Amino acid sequence: MEVQAIHQQVLGMHGRLGASRFVESDKPVSRDSVFGDRRWDMTSLVTLPGVKSYQKSWDFGSVPGFPYGFALSLAEYADARLFVPVVMHGREATWLTVHNELVALRSFAEYSHSQGLKGFHQVDVVICEQYLRSLQFGDAKGKSYERTRYMVRLIYQLWDYRSAIGECLPSLPFGRPFEKLFKKASTPNSEENATPIIPEPIYSALMSAALDYVLDYSHRIIEAWQGLQGVWDNDVIPSGLSLSGGKKKLVRVAIELLSGSPATWRTLGWAKYGDVYEELQQLRAACILVILAFSGIRVSELLSLEAGCYVADEFEDGHIRYYINTRVHKHRERGSKDSWVVIDEVVRAIQVLEALTARVRKAAKDERLMLADGTNSFFSVHRMCDGLEFGELTTGALIYQIQTFRNHCNNKLDRPSIPDWTDENGVTKPWSFNSRQFRRTLARFIARQPFGVIAGLIQYKHLEVAVFQGYAGTEPEWNKLLEQEKVLASVDILEEVAMDLSNGQLAGDFGIKLKEEFAAEFRGRAEDFSPSQIAKWLASSKKSLFVGKFNFCFFDPSKALCTQESVRADRPTLNFCQPDKCSNACIGKRHIFRWEAQLKQAEEFAAHPKTSSVQRELLEREAACLRAVVITFGK
Ligand code: SF4
Repeated sequence: MEVQAIHQQVLGMHGRLGASRFVESDKPVSRDSVFGDRRWDMTSLVTLPGVKSYQKSWDFGSVPGFPYGFALSLAEYADARLFVPVVMHGREATWLTVHNELVALRSFAEYSHSQGLKGFHQVDVVICEQYLRSLQFGDAKGKSYERTRYMVRLIYQLWDYRSAIGECLPSLPFGRPFEKLFKKASTPNSEENATPIIPEPIYSALMSAALDYVLDYSHRIIEAWQGLQGVWDNDVIPSGLSLSGGKKKLVRVAIELLSGSPATWRTLGWAKYGDVYEELQQLRAACILVILAFSGIRVSELLSLEAGCYVADEFEDGHIRYYINTRVHKHRERGSKDSWVVIDEVVRAIQVLEALTARVRKAAKDERLMLADGTNSFFSVHRMCDGLEFGELTTGALIYQIQTFRNHCNNKLDRPSIPDWTDENGVTKPWSFNSRQFRRTLARFIARQPFGVIAGLIQYKHLEVAVFQGYAGTEPEWNKLLEQEKVLASVDILEEVAMDLSNGQLAGDFGIKLKEEFAAEFRGRAEDFSPSQIAKWLASSKKSLFVGKFNFCFFDPSKALCTQESVRADRPTLNFCQPDKCSNACIGKRHIFRWEAQLKQAEEFAAHPKTSSVQRELLEREAACLRAVVITFGK
């Protein structure tokens, strides 16, 4: 056996990388590892929550050539990326970025190794081209264009770091610049831009169930759990029963305990203590949903929330505003502090999470609300928590809990089910949630239906205000997201009004005025113009358009009836809207059914034999106003 081979074998056996010309073997790369270690434990560099454990370390023994060859080159590359940036990459990279790069570059090393090479210094243009083809056409379909582009770009990046790598590529990869190989990437869509919106029927049903859990059922679920814990601590443990004996006792006691406080929301109620554990899991998922869906925070911020993270500010008029303190991780691996104004329901969800995690947090000496142990026994009363290892919920586990919550609501609860979704191919299936959808969906609903679906769900009329105030100003993306949604929404809403207009279906003072102006402008040739042309004409009125439950508001501050008591006269106060009287009101097709329903109700009450004459007169007056709107609509 050659001397070098023997040396390599000995080093490998001892789990050490070979000597580098550039980095000392005992140079620390993290709190727990030095450069020469075969496995780098980088946990101390990862503060982003929700990260899987395999992403927190790297085993150079998995790279061909270990302890030398490709493995040593990638270790030198990783060290330089983390600590010694080169001119063209002037900033240190975070460990998670480097981890992703190592995954991609290991694939290149493996390919090169399969072609008989011992290190990157032997790679030539032919190998590069062959590797590119294997990315494009290998593995049945090959990799996506974006993934291929990313993996090849990293080969160029490896070349950029050649001054820090002992055996690097000998020449420019592919013999030509990267830009000649790949066209410029099309304008990158941010992940949130490409994120689908959760359809309203699904969102409404899901969030309505989640709110019921947090606001209505939580008290009974936690009380039942505490009752079981009391039985275990005060009856079972002192009796010296074995674990199985104790569990049998718990089964017996639970039947009686739970019958006194039935779970009326479950189709079959609850009878055994396992049902309480199941409800606790769902309650935690519901809290997560309420925080995600009604605050606008990112998942990484959610995963960093700690007990006591909210504070209240009381104003002179008695109004209370709640803030939650979060940690923003985007572009900042170690995170920086941020705060959001949130609505009461979010604070309630945090309080419930505090109660659900109190025991575990105390045992773990960790205040995070998203602690998890990766088992189904998180809430078991017989568990001794002291000394157990608790990590945090991963993003994948969080999504799994949301899917499970949906299935639980559909299978076990006495309420209308959360519907499936029919995709563009006509296939009906359960909606596939991901962690970004809630933020984008909130922005969409705020932009389009500020007083519609969300207000209907939580009867909170100032959500938009709360969310806008909630943005602390250090991270512009949420405002950008809302602005994008508002632009999209105003285009769509103008087209909707244009459609109503060309069908002659508008009412309200401004609606009637629009119909007259429209008739004068288009002289009965409406069908010759597309809705987008009519929308353009509408947009030229230069009035801000707002969407209310009973009407659109083409806002002219000088004519607004709703702002007279308000400190802000620059925007309508839609929940003080008087659409039957205000000359800014325009009633469209989406609103008219509410007017018809109100008219019917007013007529019925007026005709009721028990209605007094005073009430009848008032109701008839109201019915007359409503009828006037219904009659002018469509004329
Ligand atoms: S009263 Fe209604 S229509 Fe009039 S300005 Fe206010 S919100 Fe708009």
